[in-house]
Amino acid sequence: MGAIDIQGVRKSFGPVEVLRSVDLSIGKGEFIVLVGPSGCGKSTLLRTIAGLEDATGGDIVISGRRVNDLAPKDRNLAMVFQSYALYPHMTVAGNMSYALRLRKTAKDRIAAAVSGAANLLGLGQLTERRPKQLSGGQRQRVAMGRAIVREPAAFLFDEPLSNLDARLREQMRAEIKKLHGRLGATSIYVTHDQIEAMTLADRIVAMEGGTIQQIGTPAELYDRPANRFVAGFIGSPA
Ligand code: ADP
Ligand code: MG
Repeated sequence: MGAIDIQGVRKSFGPVEVLRSVDLSIGKGEFIVLVGPSGCGKSTLLRTIAGLEDATGGDIVISGRRVNDLAPKDRNLAMVFQSYALYPHMTVAGNMSYALRLRKTAKDRIAAAVSGAANLLGLGQLTERRPKQLSGGQRQRVAMGRAIVREPAAFLFDEPLSNLDARLREQMRAEIKKLHGRLGATSIYVTHDQIEAMTLADRIVAMEGGTIQQIGTPAELYDRPANRFVAGFIGSPA
């Protein structure tokens, strides 16, 4: 049993089939990077796993439990987007603890979770600031902290760094890798950045036209790209 098992998942918007029977089994602690041309269905796949879209068919199984009929908040997943959408009127601590407060988690547990995540992310001194008093990188860290405190079964990242400049992206990429090492968290990470894919992925999943074309380690995709998109993306000579 994987941490996440996606079996024959389909999604249509009206007559348009955006996901055409996607199968993917993700092991606990595995970091999966999802790549593919714009419009191929990457965000739709993440949103369907998260429950923000209903699958038209197939099964989504998380930690052995079929979740198709569960609301997003009951799937125990955390999504991190490129537009981090922090609450402007709340402090860093307030933003990070919001989901836990909604769940009526005990106050001392919330405080411990927030300070643990803030320290992990280098935000220990900034917990009383508001988003507008933070840099872009710090805001992105708050968005990650908000996900971490919930201790989700998996993290779903949809191009989380694409709004940042190159230098910050490189720094955040290293931090995500470090965090993943420490938390051992199962992750699906969408990016169109080749270096992010190569450095973060245990396995890369290449999609095109709503189907998975290839799954393999970065080295496997580099050595034997299944199609021209993969070859172009990975930069191999094929
Ligand atoms: P990607 O993230 O790979 O760029 P998306 O998953 O966002 O692609 O979109 C895949 C396809 O589904 C696109 O053709 C897009 O226009 C379409 N699509 C996505 N969301 C909707 C929606 N809510 N209604 C109709 N079509 C959608
Ligand atoms: Mg997308």
